[in-house]
Amino acid sequence: MELRVLGCHGGESRKHRSTSFLLDGRVGLDAGATSGMLTLEEQLGLDAMVVSHAHLDHVRDLASLADNRCQGAERPLVVAGTPETLRALKEHFFNNVLWPDFTNIPLVNGGGPTVVFQPLEPEVATDVAGISVKPVLVSHTIESAGFILARDGRALVFSGDTGPTERLWAVARETAEVRAILHEVSFPDELEWLARVSGHHTPATLAREMQKLGRRDLPWLLYHIKPNCQAAVERELARLHDGRIELLDLDETWSL
Ligand SMILES: [Zn+2]
Ligand SMILES: [Zn+2]
Repeated sequence: MELRVLGCHGGESRKHRSTSFLLDGRVGLDAGATSGMLTLEEQLGLDAMVVSHAHLDHVRDLASLADNRCQGAERPLVVAGTPETLRALKEHFFNNVLWPDFTNIPLVNGGGPTVVFQPLEPEVATDVAGISVKPVLVSHTIESAGFILARDGRALVFSGDTGPTERLWAVARETAEVRAILHEVSFPDELEWLARVSGHHTPATLAREMQKLGRRDLPWLLYHIKPNCQAAVERELARLHDGRIELLDLDETWSL
C-alpha cells in the first residue's frame, strides 16, 4: 500500500496543510487538503474518500472536489464514513446552504450522482474501492473514527483526531499485518489541558498510547501538529528518544 501525504498539520498556512492522505493514488483519507494538492486529473481519478469525522479541517475539500468532479468525472465519488459522520455532512455541509447537495446533482457526463455516501459500521471491515476499511470509534469532541486500512495482507492504523483511547489499540493488537501507525499529535505538553478538552494529544500522552499497542517494530507517522506549536512539539518528541517516531512532510510518499 502506498501512502502519499497531502496534508499533515492541524492548521493551514503557506507551509501547512490540513489532514489529507492518499492511498494507492485512488482513495483519499480525510479531505483537509485534497484539491489544493492534487492536479485536476488526479482529482478526477479518485474512487473514494474515507472521512474520519465531520470537522472542517478533515472534510473541507469535499466541496471543491465535488464541484470539479461534477463537470469532469465519469463516476461518482464514494464518500465513506460512519453513519453519524455522513449524517453530519448531509445536514451541515451538503445541505444546499453551505454547499449544494452533490448527492442529488448528476455528473455532467452521465454515470450517476456526483457524490454517493457509503456508510461504514464501526468495527466491521468494509470494502471501499478495493481497500478494507474497519472504523473504530475514538475519543474526540464529536464522533470520530480511527481506521484499520488493509490491502494485500498489509494494514495501516490511522488514529483520526483523538485523545487517549483504548479500543483502537485492542483492535490493532488483533491485526497481525499492521505495517505502520498514522497518528495525531497536536499540542505541546504545556497545553495538555487544551489537548484534553479538545480531544487531541501532546507528546507525553502520545508516548503512553505507544506503550498500549505493545509493539516495538512499527513506525509511528505523526501528523496534525498545530502550526503555532510546531517547534515546541518537535522538541518534545525529540526528547522521547524513540526511534519509531517519524514526522511527516508534505507530499512525501511511504510504501507500506
Ligand atoms: Zn477534529
Ligand atoms: Zn483535526
